[in-house]
Amino acid sequence: MLLNTYTRFDVKFVKGKNATLWDENNEKYIDFTSGIGVVSVGHANERLFNAICEQAKKIIHISNLYKIPPQEKLAEILVKYYGEGGVFFCNSGAEANETALKIARKYGEVEGKIKRYKIITLENSFHGRTISTLKATGQPKFHQYFGPFPDGFTYAKDIKDIYNKIDNKTVGVMIELIQGEGGVNPFDKSEIKKLEKELKKKDILLIVDEVQTGIYRTGEFYASDLYEICPDIITLAKGLGGGVPIGAVVTRLTNVLKPGDHGSTFGGNYLSTRAGIEVCEILQKEKKSGKLDERIEYFENKLVEIAKEFPLMFESVAGYGLMRALKTKDTKTRDEIIKKAFEEKVLVLKAGSHSVRFLPPLTISFEEIDEGFERLKLALNKGKN
Ligand SMILES: *Cc1c(COP(=O)(O)O)cnc(C)c1O
Repeated sequence: MLLNTYTRFDVKFVKGKNATLWDENNEKYIDFTSGIGVVSVGHANERLFNAICEQAKKIIHISNLYKIPPQEKLAEILVKYYGEGGVFFCNSGAEANETALKIARKYGEVEGKIKRYKIITLENSFHGRTISTLKATGQPKFHQYFGPFPDGFTYAKDIKDIYNKIDNKTVGVMIELIQGEGGVNPFDKSEIKKLEKELKKKDILLIVDEVQTGIYRTGEFYASDLYEICPDIITLAKGLGGGVPIGAVVTRLTNVLKPGDHGSTFGGNYLSTRAGIEVCEILQKEKKSGKLDERIEYFENKLVEIAKEFPLMFESVAGYGLMRALKTKDTKTRDEIIKKAFEEKVLVLKAGSHSVRFLPPLTISFEEIDEGFERLKLALNKGKN
């Protein structure tokens, strides 16, 4: 048996193609979740599965004691969109954030006269499930039972409140640009640009958690591009491997960690980095051809339309790119919608207390978008009674 950590829908999927899934009774579903923003190039993407198969036939894993060419190549791609810097590979978002925290802590220890170790994060944030990233997560409901936590985390109410929380021990600020699990809440671009400038003046590191927003989820390679900032550290995971577990930390701070300071057995192995390269190349092509932007616009129009058609249920449309939400007036309405949508065989996610969240594959077809929204409308019409 499994530990009881998830409340699962009663369905077993046996195959998928792009944004379409089939269960064991061959019933068809439209997938607006892509496994929580992971299957970014869709299910059973031919280019991706061919690359994975080809790699698996040669070497899957060799450890980080030896050079790994696809790891170096993927690092080059991630750095190309970043500027100048280096990459550390791990296996998940939480691990990427742990790595970022370790880089910040060591930076705070070796730079300057006094040890700086405090990290400011935001209320309503989500940074992972390990003890430190849980502490970094500014949602008290996650903290119950698991203390004591490591010291040195401070929460700010919003971007402006960060300035009030800075003291002489502050070494870093870790934020999402669009809070994902918190409900799909984008921050204001000018506030973020100002924050970047202010932190730079004070030599405080800006760590941007792009575990959910990274790799074209918002329409740009990094959400940091959308916000026109260059953080000291960016963390990645979800969409990078197209379903193969991988996490990454991209940073200009290439001299902080030394051999022995940090590591990962699985991190950046042949299989996951080969997958990462393929995902990046597939999506680069989608972006360049204009197809990704067309899809984003099409999807957005559908959301706006449905929000207009059901004004008693939805208050607003939020998010960027294909990281979207319809905000409902309360939690009960939201939960009811997700349940009804599942009955009509369209998969959507919840986020925060009153968001219906949409994270479809970035390769979703117009037909799949149409069909998904038709099903959603059916569900909403049934929800009226
Ligand atoms: C999902 C998520 C994480 C945690 O990633 P895991 O791979 O589950 O550890 C961290 N930060 C953000 C912003 C996320 O969306």
